[in-house]
Amino acid sequence: MKILFVVSEVLPFSKTGGLADVASALPAALAGLGHEVKVVTPAYASVRAAKPEPLGVPLSLSFPAGTFHSELLSVSHGPNHQVLFLAQDALYDRPGIYGEGPWPYADNALRYAFLSVGALSAAQALGFAPDIVHLNDWQTGLAALALLRGYGDTPLGRARSVFTLHNLAYQGWFPKEQMDVLGLPWELFTPDGLEFYDQLNFLKAGVVWADALTTVSPTYARDIQTPEGGEGLHGLLRERAGALTGILNGIDTTTWNPATDVHLPARFHAGDLAGKAECRRALLSRFGLPAEAEGPLFVCISRMAAQKGMDLVLEVMPGLLSRSNARLVVLGSGDPELETAFRVLASRFPGQVGLQLGYDESLSHLVEAGGDFFLMPSRFEPCGLNQMYSLAYGCVPVVRSVGGLSDTVVDLSQPDGTGIRFDAFSAPAFERAVERAMALHADSTALEAVRRRGMVRDFSWGRSARAYEALYRRLVGTT
Ligand code: ADP
Repeated sequence: MKILFVVSEVLPFSKTGGLADVASALPAALAGLGHEVKVVTPAYASVRAAKPEPLGVPLSLSFPAGTFHSELLSVSHGPNHQVLFLAQDALYDRPGIYGEGPWPYADNALRYAFLSVGALSAAQALGFAPDIVHLNDWQTGLAALALLRGYGDTPLGRARSVFTLHNLAYQGWFPKEQMDVLGLPWELFTPDGLEFYDQLNFLKAGVVWADALTTVSPTYARDIQTPEGGEGLHGLLRERAGALTGILNGIDTTTWNPATDVHLPARFHAGDLAGKAECRRALLSRFGLPAEAEGPLFVCISRMAAQKGMDLVLEVMPGLLSRSNARLVVLGSGDPELETAFRVLASRFPGQVGLQLGYDESLSHLVEAGGDFFLMPSRFEPCGLNQMYSLAYGCVPVVRSVGGLSDTVVDLSQPDGTGIRFDAFSAPAFERAVERAMALHADSTALEAVRRRGMVRDFSWGRSARAYEALYRRLVGTT
């Protein structure tokens, strides 16, 4: 099949979260299954370092706001996996991806309408007639609509669309006046169309008009059809339940494999964990903590955002640190208030808490490799990647039973347990989970068994890619 994959961030060119990991690994896995995949994404300033090659294919797209000229740049990852960058300097050549600091760019509606329509135009200009147009999150929602309305009698008209919801908390809401800026017809501004509480909602375009909807774990597919998890869209999602499936994300096992990881001072695998002890020492030293510290080493790598439940970490860990020899290492960035609270925590517990604020891909590998327990008390979690990295790296995850965390971590109480789960989003429930981690740490034989069980679980993209492939085949009618 020919697949056009449209997405707003792609590793290693741009990244703010797990979406970028998916946009790199899933197309690669699909290409590995023999499909021809073209990924289309903006040429942000950050992609320049990769020196993408100009294809000499000019595009121009007209909006009421003006006509925008663009060209296509490309990086090939093999004969059937190409990343195409939509170059439009006025829209994308900026320091940030969606904005800078807490401020989104004021013209994001136009920037991502441009991506949505530009991706389809790019395919057309290249003579690429996809069987499937795979769209991701609100930034690409309008492409589902554009495909239906603008390409009926072109080679793109026969493509079926798949819209993947990676995180329903971000929907791309804009003032309704943007309808005019983008030239969207007002008859679509209705509750069963683009309107959401009197605003324009990009995500809804994908939910309403895509042929199939997917989300990134089976549990999240159910969670989002409830008032608690639906972020205001549960009614619509329930109506489209027949078109919605949950397919668990995989992890990129070429970069996230402790046996071959280039970011680590020592490597290890389920059969020989000696290298993990060396990584632990390196991690402690890197954070200025005593390298031979014996107590459990808890770690977090996270966006500092309400979703991730970092407020529970702040609530529970001080007590635990005061009464034990536990250590905590945190790598994260985001909400300035949460960042400040972690700074205060680190200064209160020197020698016990290590903190790095900022984004550091390489360091994140060392944190997983060196950590004993990974804390992930999310309020909600579409899939989550860090708990899978943790399992692969023998860093036992402590997670809330929600979304993809429920689908990937088996509680210790089960014979095949790989981690620790808790249910209620509350400090006492999280504290009990952390105490269970302390108890497990005290029993080195049990700890090692749990670690090994997690390390041999298969979370590779091959399995997920086959599930997407089966969905695509159903849509194009070749099963
Ligand atoms: P989300 O996409 O909601 O942020 P995921 O767990 O799905 O959460 O994916 C987060 C990704 O971002 C992972 O690859 C994680 O390692 C990475 N990450 C998050 N914060 C940081 C950071 N400060 N430094 C390095 N990597 C980070």
